[in-house]
Amino acid sequence: MNILISNDDGVLAPGIQALAQALKKLGRVVIVAPDHERSGFSSALTIDRPLRPVEISTDVWAVDGTPADCVYLATNGLFDFEFDLVVSGINNGPNLGDHILYSGTVGAAMGGRLGRLPSIAVSLCGAKVRQYTSPDDFKAAAEWVAQFIASGLPKLPPRYVLNMNIPDIEEIKGIQVTHQSHCHTPKPIIPQVNPRGYQTYWISLAKELQAHDMHVNHSMADFEAVAAGFVSLTPIQMETTNAQVIQDLQSQLSQRHQVVL
Ligand SMILES: [Mg+2]
Repeated sequence: MNILISNDDGVLAPGIQALAQALKKLGRVVIVAPDHERSGFSSALTIDRPLRPVEISTDVWAVDGTPADCVYLATNGLFDFEFDLVVSGINNGPNLGDHILYSGTVGAAMGGRLGRLPSIAVSLCGAKVRQYTSPDDFKAAAEWVAQFIASGLPKLPPRYVLNMNIPDIEEIKGIQVTHQSHCHTPKPIIPQVNPRGYQTYWISLAKELQAHDMHVNHSMADFEAVAAGFVSLTPIQMETTNAQVIQDLQSQLSQRHQVVL
C-alpha cells in the first residue's frame, strides 16, 4: 500500500512525524506537506504562482504551498506511482463541529477524496496538545490510527471523508460514529495595537460547540464523543447541497419568481 501523508501544521510538525512512523508498517509512506504551518487554509489552492516541492529527506517533501496544494501535486503527477490512501494530520488540536470549514487538515483530506482516494483527517484533542513538541507526544494516537487502518478501512459512499478526532488520554474507550456539531455564535475579534502603532485584530474560533438539533441517526455529536473518551469518527462529505431544503426553497421562490421546477 502506498500512503500519502499531509497536514496543515507543516512538514516538521511532530504529529506528522509520529503518523509517518506508525504507518510505515502498513506500506510505503510518502510525506508531502507545507514547508511551514498553514492551519486555517481549508482547501485553498495556489493558482497565482508555481509551486516548488523539495525532497528534504527520502520520501519527505516540503512544499511552499497549502495542504490542498500538497495533495494535488502528489496525486496528479509528482510521482510515477499511485497512492492508495491519504491521511492528513495528526493535527495539534481538534477539528470539530463547524470549525472544520476552515481546517487545512480536513482540506488536505478532501483533496485526496477529490482524487478518488480513501481519505482520513486525524486530529488530537486535549488541553496540552498545542504545547507538544515531540513525535512521542503523538505516538499513542498514531498507533491507534495505524491499527484502525490495518483492521480494514470502512467503505464510504463516493466523495466522503472520515474526520477522526482522538482524545489525548491514556485509556481510549473505543470509537463512536458521530455527527458534526454546530458552533455557537462567533467569537468577537481581539483588538491589538502592534509595535509599529497599527491597529490589528486577532481572529480565533469560539470553543463552544452544540449537538445537532435533531441527533442525526441517534449519533453522538463529535465533541461529546471526544469529551467522553472516545475517538470521534464523522463521515463528512464534499457535496454541500441540502436535498431537504431544495423543495422548500423552490416553493418559496415560485411565488415571487418564475422558477423552473
Ligand atoms: Mg493545524
